[in-house]
Amino acid sequence: MAIDSPAKIVIIGAGPIGLEAALYARFLGYEVDVFERDVLASSLRQSSAEITGSFVENATSLGLAALEAQGEFDRPADDATLTSREFAERYCGPLANTDLIQDCIHEHSSVVRVTLNPNHSNTSPDDTEDDEITAPKFIVHYNSPDAQTATTQAHVVIDASGENSAVDWTETQLASCPDTGIYLGGQASFGATREQWSSPENLVTREQHGYVIGRKSFGNEVPFGKSFTLPDGHEQIRVLFSILGDRAELDLYKTVRL
Ligand SMILES: Cc1cc2nc3c(=O)[nH]c(=O)nc-3n(C[C@H](O)[C@H](O)[C@H](O)COP(=O)(O)OP(=O)(O)OC[C@H]3O[C@@H](n4cnc5c(N)ncnc54)[C@H](O)[C@@H]3O)c2cc1C
Repeated sequence: MAIDSPAKIVIIGAGPIGLEAALYARFLGYEVDVFERDVLASSLRQSSAEITGSFVENATSLGLAALEAQGEFDRPADDATLTSREFAERYCGPLANTDLIQDCIHEHSSVVRVTLNPNHSNTSPDDTEDDEITAPKFIVHYNSPDAQTATTQAHVVIDASGENSAVDWTETQLASCPDTGIYLGGQASFGATREQWSSPENLVTREQHGYVIGRKSFGNEVPFGKSFTLPDGHEQIRVLFSILGDRAELDLYKTVRL
């Protein structure tokens, strides 16, 4: 079942993958809210280690197009090797300030849990005649900057909250469904048992519309003998939105270029 724009997507975490997912979603016309518990790209800002690969390998064609369209982008050399902090400051920060996503990002807003909207009709895709947008499936609970607990509704939730997050999905009862791409298992992190679901195809589900991508999806163990890299996350984004749109060929990273 396709989820067509302007459905509402909530993204948890404004790290490099959450920001890229937000941009991709906005290009497709979805409504987006990004909740970040700290400041954007906070994980990257904490490290002065070099990011594997060149600048252009860790950026996306979509991100670069948005930045160039904005003007006044001090673009690093394509083959530059940046530290995590430099990548946060020279790419993620400017990206977050582009017109498409700057109004969607809510810093100092920590998502606590995701629950199911009781008003959502849980029609199975097989019973659905068309792609009509129904009441949002999820309720996202977060602490706003003034420390008040608030909620917002979402048709789709993308959890890109990195490795040290503790978003509680338990009430959605997705934990028992490995093919949803969401594993809880009563643990704060995904751990070794996440490994078998870490390929892009298994991170997503046509039915549930709850997704875990980015560093978090790889858990604390190293799957496939390799560590998570930003291009892994970009591939997850591409797959996720092709499934959301029910368009296997959809790939904005190929079609939107300078
Ligand atoms: C020393 C070091 C070296 C590294 N080297 C590399 C490298 O070479 N290549 C590489 O690809 N990666 C490297 N990494 C890992 C890199 O940090 C991750 O690849 C990258 O940050 C993952 O992006 P992400 O968006 O998935 O998660 P993150 O960058 O962790 O972003 C997650 C965001 O979600 C926010 N968040 C968490 N919980 C919540 C919540 N409940 N509500 C709202 N927001 C929340 C966090 O504050 C954070 O801003 C390195 C990390 C370190 C520490």
